[in-house]
Formats: sequence, structure tokens, C-alpha cells
Amino acid sequence: MKTDGEKGFYGQFGGSFVTPELQTVLDHLEDAFLRYKDDEEFNEELRYYHRDYVGRPSPLYYAARLSEELGGAKIYIKREDLNHTGSHKINNVIGQALLAKRMGIKRVIAETGAGQHGVATATACALFGMDCTIYMGAEDIRRQALNVFRMELLGAKVISVTTGNRTLKEAVDEAFADLLANYGHTYYMLGSAVGPHPFPAIVRHFQSVIGKEARQQILEQEGKLPTYVIACVGGGSNAIGLFHPFYDDKDVGMIGVEPAGKGLATGKHAAPLNLGKPGLLHGFKCYVMQDAIGEPLPTYSIAAGLDYPGVGPEHSFYKASGRAEYVAVTDEEALEAFKLLSQVEGIIPALESAHAVAQAVKLAPSLSPEDVIIVNLSGRGDKDAQQVFEMVQAAKAAVAGQ
Ligand SMILES: *Cc1c(COP(=O)(O)O)cnc(C)c1O
Repeated sequence: MKTDGEKGFYGQFGGSFVTPELQTVLDHLEDAFLRYKDDEEFNEELRYYHRDYVGRPSPLYYAARLSEELGGAKIYIKREDLNHTGSHKINNVIGQALLAKRMGIKRVIAETGAGQHGVATATACALFGMDCTIYMGAEDIRRQALNVFRMELLGAKVISVTTGNRTLKEAVDEAFADLLANYGHTYYMLGSAVGPHPFPAIVRHFQSVIGKEARQQILEQEGKLPTYVIACVGGGSNAIGLFHPFYDDKDVGMIGVEPAGKGLATGKHAAPLNLGKPGLLHGFKCYVMQDAIGEPLPTYSIAAGLDYPGVGPEHSFYKASGRAEYVAVTDEEALEAFKLLSQVEGIIPALESAHAVAQAVKLAPSLSPEDVIIVNLSGRGDKDAQQVFEMVQAAKAAVAGQ
């Protein structure tokens, strides 16, 4: 089960490539994490919030109609979309907020791109009475006005970052600068299984509840382990949370799904595990979408939450070692899956999660009824209804205008 080595290296990936000042702060965080992660009282409190606030365990739902429609494998859906705030992100922020509380810290900062992690962080801060500051690129603030309103409603202060491309990368840089300036009384709540050690280990730890539950649930419901587990990969937190508890089950195939956007050949995608090369980003080593001189390339996906040029170090290692397979699904395929799941199961998935569903749609017919697939439904699609509505309207207008 131990896939991580010294100082957070997963094979050649991960690590912590930061200034000595920041390293001191990260070492302090690691000490606190190691001290509390197996602490009885800490975990009792975590279980309490999981159950009474988040609504865990999330169901593992047998999608009978979808399975029948596709033919082949039985498809089960891990319902992270039913969590409070509508996605898996709450698992991580509740865990980290409890850690900050144990460290005696009352000021929390976070970065956000699409706004989903910002909203989750603001939620946890409201719950625990913590001061909350969210860094967000000016361009993202413009695109995600409703999420900015949600964060402010929850009591957070949203700071607009106006450097560079004014998106997620710059927001991460600003959050690290804030941490360095204020580390004595500030906790940086990172939103995915990325960043320098110990962040990937911390986020995986708190997201592993997904895979632990799913493993137990499938054994209860099917009396055996699944043939495949499938999840979408942005930074990689929902996927590693599902995958890691199955790591030692060598017969369980793991498939991570990256966004192929308009197509891998177009350059308009966010698929570093498919087309990136090992490199450094935000203080850790991973597969990165980069140009000839190693600068991160612009990314694109229909799903804002998958739009990142790098990926978690543990996924980078799983890819290099062959333990997991990483495929890519286009916007169009994700949209088809978005509609299909809505129509045959009455479940509107997040566009991010629709990528994982799309992979199950491709794979299931080639398998037998003895095979079982678990798809992680990382979030619900309410947040995406407006976006898809506008796309459908635009497509109709284009057809009418022809
Ligand atoms: C943020 C988000 C993702 C992508 O993040 P990971 O760290 O890769 O899990 C996926 N699905 C939903 C619903 C999200 O909000």
C-alpha cells in the first residue's frame, strides 16, 4: 500500500522543489499531518463531520439502466455528487480544516480556478469559524461570477490576481507568497493532489475515503472486487482517492480520464499524462504540458475543473510504472455522456465527471456481464446546466442560420 517514498517522492515524481524558507513551513505541516492522521480523536471528529455534515458514506449505486443500455459490464456509480456542496472537494477541505484547527491556526488561504475549491474552502471555514482568503485570477473571477458570490456569501474574502494570464497558475503563486509571509498564523488549504510534499500525501489521505468506502461497498454488493475503477483526472484528487485503496489489488484495473478537449491533435486539451513530459511545476515533479523550453502550455477543457497543465505526482508514477492507464475523452464525448446519464439514470453529472462516464460508455460493451466497473461521479452537474444550456442554444442558432 505504501507507494510514496522519502520526502514525498513517488518514483521520480513529486518531491518538494521550494525555497529553504518555504521548506521549513512545509516540514512543520508534515509534522502536524503525521501526528494527527492516525490520531483516534482526530479521526472520530472527522467521521462525525463526514456523517452528519457531508452525508457520508456516499452510496455505491448500481446503474441498472445504463448497464443494460450499453450491454456488457455492470456499472456502479460512486455518488460523490450527493455530498454537501455537490462534489468530492468537501472531503479534503473538512480534513484539512480539522488539521489547521489542531495546529491552532485560524486563518485559511486557498487558490481557486473555476471556483469550486474556493467554495468548498469557504464552506469549511464557515463551519469552523475560520478567517478565509481565496486567491483567484482576474480572468477566472470574470468567468465565474456566481462562484465568487457564493464564496463571499460564505464569508470569504476573494482576492483578484492580475499577474500573467490571470488564471489558476498565478493564483497558486500568490497563495504560496501569502503563506511565506504569514506562515505563523496561516494555513494553505491546497485543493488537489498536487503541489510540493506533503500536499499530495495530505489530499490523497483525505480523499481515500472514496476508495475505502467503494471497496467495502462492492464487496458487500457483488461479493468481489471490480474489474475496473474509472475516474476523471484534473489535478487528480478524486481519482487518487478512488484508486489508492485498490493499489494492492493487482487484478483491479485503474483508468484515469483526462480531458482531450477539442481533440488531442488540436493542442486544445489538458492531458499532461497523455501528451506531457516530466517536468517541474509549482514546486513538484510530474507530467507537464510544456513547450520545447519547458514553459507550461495553455490548457483547455469544457470542464473548468480539469483545466490544469500538470497532474499529481502519484498519477505520474502510476503511469510510468504501468499500474494505471490514462486515456483522454473529448468535449463532445463528455457532453454525450452528460446527456446519456441524465436521460437513463436521472443523474446530471458534473462535466468533469462526465469524462469518466464517457470512458465507461466506451469500455463497458467490450466486457462481459461478469465484469464490474466502478465510475467515480466526482460531482453533480447543477453548476454546469447554464453552460450546457448556452452551448445547446448556440448550436441551434447556428443550424437555424444555415
Ligand atoms: C475540481 C473537480 C474535479 C477535478 O479535480 P481532481 O483533483 O482531479 O479531482 C473533478 N470533478 C469535479 C466535480 C470537480 O469539482
